[in-house]
Amino acid sequence: MASPDIGSEVSDASQVLQRVFGYDSFREGQQEIIDHVVAGGDALVLMPTGGGKSLCYQIPALVRKGVGIVISPLIALMQDQVDTLTALGARAGFLNSTQDLDERRRVESAFLAGELDLLYLAPERLRVESTLRLLDRGTISLFAIDEAHCVAQWGHDFRPDYLELSTLHERWPAVPRIALTATATPATHAEIAARLNLEEARHFVASFDRPNIQYRIAPKNEPKRQLLDLLRTEHPGDAGIVYCLSRASVEKIAEFLVDNGVVALPYHAGLDARTRAANQSRFLREDGIVIVATIAFGMGIDKPDVRFVAHLDLPKSVEGYYQETGRAGRDGLPSTGWLAYGLQDVVQQRKLIETSDGDETHRRRLSGHLDAMLALCETVDCRRVQLLAYFGQESVACGNCDTCLTPPESWDGTVPAQMLLSAVLRLLRERRQKFGAGHLIDILLGKKTPKVIQHDHDSLSVFGIGTDLSADAWRGVVRQLLAQGLLAVEGDYGTLVLTEASAGVLRKERQVLLRREPERARRAAKAAKARSAAPVDLPEEAMPVFERLRAWRSATAKEQGVPPYVVFHDKTLREIATLSPSSLAELGTVTGVGENKLAKYGQQILDTLSE
Ligand code: ADP
Ligand code: ZN
Repeated sequence: MASPDIGSEVSDASQVLQRVFGYDSFREGQQEIIDHVVAGGDALVLMPTGGGKSLCYQIPALVRKGVGIVISPLIALMQDQVDTLTALGARAGFLNSTQDLDERRRVESAFLAGELDLLYLAPERLRVESTLRLLDRGTISLFAIDEAHCVAQWGHDFRPDYLELSTLHERWPAVPRIALTATATPATHAEIAARLNLEEARHFVASFDRPNIQYRIAPKNEPKRQLLDLLRTEHPGDAGIVYCLSRASVEKIAEFLVDNGVVALPYHAGLDARTRAANQSRFLREDGIVIVATIAFGMGIDKPDVRFVAHLDLPKSVEGYYQETGRAGRDGLPSTGWLAYGLQDVVQQRKLIETSDGDETHRRRLSGHLDAMLALCETVDCRRVQLLAYFGQESVACGNCDTCLTPPESWDGTVPAQMLLSAVLRLLRERRQKFGAGHLIDILLGKKTPKVIQHDHDSLSVFGIGTDLSADAWRGVVRQLLAQGLLAVEGDYGTLVLTEASAGVLRKERQVLLRREPERARRAAKAAKARSAAPVDLPEEAMPVFERLRAWRSATAKEQGVPPYVVFHDKTLREIATLSPSSLAELGTVTGVGENKLAKYGQQILDTLSE
């Protein structure tokens, strides 16, 4: 450690910000939160991913006397978090099950001697009496409860161990607590406050907007080709995450990408722990890796330069979707959140809910989550406006989502809706039969398939009445009727049935507005590219310098066994390449170059620049 007592040298928050972290100014909300916690107040912080939550407890921990205890469920990432702090010259450690006894003893005695600024713990450790006694013997500056939404059952990442955290203030009433989360609808927010006994705390709710992420939701036609298109045209060589619902599709998609020349790795709970850890570590440590994963991957991953998050299956809730897409672009540079979604997704998710364990309330809750997600997919308005509204925030059309860039038209789909619903009705009334979307569409299109002939469905009055629309367009109609609750799916085969609301359409009392799907996916992509390329592109002459700096960073990171972003972020390297500083003092003005890193790497950077 270069300057082991940097925390005790600087006592004022904005000094710490500049000297330790190398940042000029606080981001929205940070200063207020930090001042409040430094003064000993409790806080509940809701801030989007990439908003800068870590500083909100790290700076108070550096300023206040004693050790800041950080509770985080992510033991696999503690090493990286500690490395990041160490690189800044702060004194950090962790205690978890991956350590041997010697290491643990060393950290424990550093804690007791007051030689740490921050100590990371997994929540389950606080159930162990010996840990509690250890904490009793040291001086604690604050408790930071990271990923605080894990305490909420309404949310999507519930961890029972988090419930125990409600008792922290009973044992240590004088120690301030700061709970932080990037995901909270008003319902989750209230639940976190209640369960962590933080109703009296000050609540800080930042804007949830992530303006640098471009949200796009495309109809799923040929998902693999669409994904490959996205990677090739907009994100060649970029790091990204592709989410799939099942382990099998994770494997399949990873293989497909590799076959097509993309460096892609799978990640899911069915892989053995070593492979999982190795793949995660490569994703963090190498540039430009694509990880294909189930949603088990990503919480707490603070890799700043994830350039895209792609969903190939419909997320179960808007909260989950926002959390997952939020892993893109923590560094503030333009990034893409892309989702492909189709009829099959709706059918499958409804089925999952129907067959899920738990009581009626639970199923209703899941259903509510899904409906909100579908409404987001089918909206003709700005995606961001809708997302933010979900988190209780008002906003205006963003200009950086697919519906803003290529406004979808809506059309009067009342007649096709009636055709489809009456086909469902007739099959039931006249034949006592139910079928899935594919067969119904065949009937409407007047296709004499073997199944149509077998069931004598070409004699139905609705046979062949829908030839004005293509099969694709019909699938869109079915999907949107499902999303609007005008149609429902049932049973294992995804058969379509009417809902109470269907009657109004059949009786011609209700108009059905649908969203048209031209070939908009491509056009949106082009517009997006034009837009996102502009602000990050380096001046022509700075490009080779940036590449040299990146090569230096790779080598340095490798030598030290840390991820490249622990050395410097892309953003910092870009700024250096553009500014081309000629002295250490000038280099020190760059965002992300604090005192410790300047002392450690400054000369090497200047040498690299003058090569
Ligand atoms: P969160 O935990 O909210 O997802 P982080 O704490 O990881 O976000 O911060 C996101 C990124 O923004 C990090 O790379 C961090 O170093 C950077 N950052 C945070 N605060 C500032 C600031 N005041 N100025 C510049 N960069 C900042
Ligand atoms: Zn928009």
